[in-house]
This record gives sequence, C-alpha cells and structure tokens, in this order.
Amino acid sequence: MAKVQAPWPQGTECVARYNFKGTSEQDLPFNKGDVLTIIVVTKDPNWYKAKNAAGQEGTIPANYVQKREGVKGCKLSLMPWFHGKISREQAEQLLHPPETGLFLVRESTNFPGDYTLCVSCDGKVEHYRIIYKKGKLTIDEEGFFENLMQLVEHYTKEDDGLCTKLIKPKVEEGAVAAQDEFSRSGWSLTRKDLALQSVIGKGEFGDVMMGDYRGTKVAVKCIKNDATAQAFIAEASVMTQLRHDNLVQLLGVIVEKDGSLFIVTEFMAKGCLVDYLRSRGRTVIDGDSLLHFALNVCEAMAYLEASNFVHRDLAARNVLVSDDNIAKVSDFGLAKEASSVQDTAKLPIKWTAPEAIREKNFSTKSDVWSYGILLWEIYSFGRVPYPRIPLKDVVPRVEKGYKMDCPDGCPEVVYNVMKQCWNIDPTARPTFRQLKEWLQHITGETGKK
Ligand code: ADP
Repeated sequence: MAKVQAPWPQGTECVARYNFKGTSEQDLPFNKGDVLTIIVVTKDPNWYKAKNAAGQEGTIPANYVQKREGVKGCKLSLMPWFHGKISREQAEQLLHPPETGLFLVRESTNFPGDYTLCVSCDGKVEHYRIIYKKGKLTIDEEGFFENLMQLVEHYTKEDDGLCTKLIKPKVEEGAVAAQDEFSRSGWSLTRKDLALQSVIGKGEFGDVMMGDYRGTKVAVKCIKNDATAQAFIAEASVMTQLRHDNLVQLLGVIVEKDGSLFIVTEFMAKGCLVDYLRSRGRTVIDGDSLLHFALNVCEAMAYLEASNFVHRDLAARNVLVSDDNIAKVSDFGLAKEASSVQDTAKLPIKWTAPEAIREKNFSTKSDVWSYGILLWEIYSFGRVPYPRIPLKDVVPRVEKGYKMDCPDGCPEVVYNVMKQCWNIDPTARPTFRQLKEWLQHITGETGKK
C-alpha cells in the first residue's frame, strides 16, 4: 500500500515545481519557482490552503509543490568527483568494477600541483595528466580551462581526444553534489530568472550585486572561483536552516556547471549598519533608533542561541539595514553548529572573546561578548572599538580586565549591559534571552519619557 504522507504543518514553506493556473475562484494560481507558505491543512491531503509572497491566499494542489527543507548533515561538494591526494592504485580500485565513462580526479602524486583525470574505459583505467600552465589547466595543451569544473564539464560533452567522454562521476565517499542537494531541498533557483544589475558591495571573495529575481529586488553574492565557492556552499547551507525576521533571508542559490556560485538573499536597501551609523551620525539618529537596532540584533541572536548556532563574526559591519530600518544579521560565513572548532588565524581580534582567541573556545557566550562590542559600536555611531589602543595590545589589556569607556551620550543602563557582556568568565555573561529582556525593559523605560 502506498505510504500516506504526513500532512505538512502550518508555516511549511514549499516551492512550486510546475505552473498552476487554478480552476476555481478558491484556487491560488502560481508559477514554477514561486515560494508558498502553508496556512491551513485541509481535510483532503491532496490540497492545502496557502499564501504566496504577495500575501494572496487560496487552495493549492500538494503534488505541484515541493517542501523546502534545511540542507544539513552532509558534506556538500561542488566537485564530488574530486578525491584529493590518492594514489594511482587507489584510484583504480575506486573505479572498479569497470564501467566505461566512470571517472574521478585526483591530485597528481608525481607532479605536485598538477592533477590527474582517471577514466574507466573498456575494462581499463586511463590516467590523464592535467597540467597547470600559465594559470590555466589543460590535458592536451589545446583546450585550456579556468578550473577543474570547467574541464570536467567540457569532457562530459565530448571525448575530445580522451578514450571516452566522461559519463558518471565516482563520488568521494560521504560527499554529495551541492547542486543536487540544493535542488532536492528546494533551494535551487533558475539562472535565467535572475537579472544582475549593479555592483553594490565588494565582498572578500567577489562582488555583491543588486539584481531582480522574478520581480523581487535581491542581493546576489557572486563567487567565480571554484575553491572559494566551495567555502560559500557551507554559508548557504547554514542559511537554509535558519529563518527569522532579523536574519538576512536566503532566497536560494544557483550553482553553475563552471563552478560559479550565486547566493541570492533579500535586498537590504540601507547597507551595512556601521556605514549607516557613520554616515548619518548623532544629529540624524536618535536614541530610540539606536535601541531599536540593538534589540533587532539581539532578537536574531536569541533565535540563533535557541537553535544552537554560533555566529562567530558578529559585528556592526555584518549587520545590514532594510529599507524600513530593520537591522538584520548577515554573513554566516563562519557560523557553525555549536560544537565545531575553527581556525583562529582570520579572527577579528577586537570583536572576539578572549577565550575564543586563546583556546578557540567559541560558544553562544563568545557571541555575547561580540554583541557587547556591537552595542558599543552602535552607541558610538560606528567608531572602531578600542580607539587609540594598538591592535597587539588589545588582548593583553582585555585579559587584565580593561573595558572600553561608555560612549558619549550612551545611557548608563545600556553601558551596564555592555559591561555584563564583557565578563572575562564566559559563564557569568548573560544569555541573549536575558539581554533581550533587559533591552525590552530599557525600551519600555525610555519610551515612557
Ligand atoms: P563578504 O562576507 O564576502 O565580505 P559581505 O556579505 O560583507 O561580503 O558583503 C559586502 C557588502 O555588500 C556589504 O558591506 C554590503 O554593503 C553589501 N551587501 C551584502 N549583502 C547585502 C544585501 N543583502 N543587501 C544589500 N547590500 C548587501
């Protein structure tokens, strides 16, 4: 007997797999790719009452849509056929039993820095050396490619001198093709629906552009380099698991065959908080607005705390402001589920808790420390923390108990909150839940005046 699927609960997000015109007044028409939210489960499991992004409601057929899920628990890879440094013999074992067109790429053992393409063909394995020449990759010195993905893509289309064209990747154990996983979970967008318009920011690894995705203004992180894209895949998969009004919302990702990656998020018209504060200053932004931003960020962080996520890079530069002045936390490049360890080389010293710098001990409590620094940034209208202290002296002084002074004009109650966040003992710092209550209380107090 066919298994009856449990009904999706209210609030479930789905993505349309096909166009639906609707046949009656009650139906909600939609196009392939539209995101719909279930509002009521009807008696008939084949139909749901749902609403679209514009807020229109109606009935939708369950089999026309796909439930959107968080991408997690797997090793997403842009190059699942890449096996790193394995020997020729290991490659041959992996390509056994023989299957013409089954392939993998490994790092060359004889020529460090080069790669080897191993292809199974008529019961034998051929090993083609891929050489790195003048910044490009080539097998035959005729066809040159920017990266391994482009090379594999080319030989998938035609053999072009190889014993066979590449037919089936031998996937590294535990790896999952990122593109397949994003499609399966409903987060893959169509490139032709996305129009890129202008550059709005320079990220560390590529441009951030303003664009239009099916009539909605969006921000797009464009990553061209395949190795970097691999790192951003992790950021995007974290974002699929999180949803909160004060977190910059992921709309979806596009993984192209040549290794380019587009991460599409909601557009935050007023840019990053630190620039917002600096450019407008105290003559334009009043105390209520500062407290409002502080509370917005705190709400997002309380949600991350409850979801057991550690951000690790909380700072005013990583908070963006929407057209209607809502502050939202972004940049999940370093965010991880609570338990993992990480490389400390790239840490922003002035924002990172002492125990995180010293012992790589990242936790929600180290995020609370960073939140204290962020509060200081807000109340000093975007100044760089620890003014006049050379960077190398910051950690030693902080460890001896040094705390920044109260920013000019900052209410004493807010300064006390900062100081609580900067307790050297992480366990003595407040939780984001407590911080939220304190800030709500302060909002109530100042609101009464
Ligand atoms: P990276 O993490 O690679 O350094 P960021 O995410 O910090 O890149 O983005 C760089 C800049 O691009 C930001 O400071 C901001 O000005 C702009 N930007 C990023 N995301 C958005 C967005 N969703 N809406 C509007 N502007 C954005």
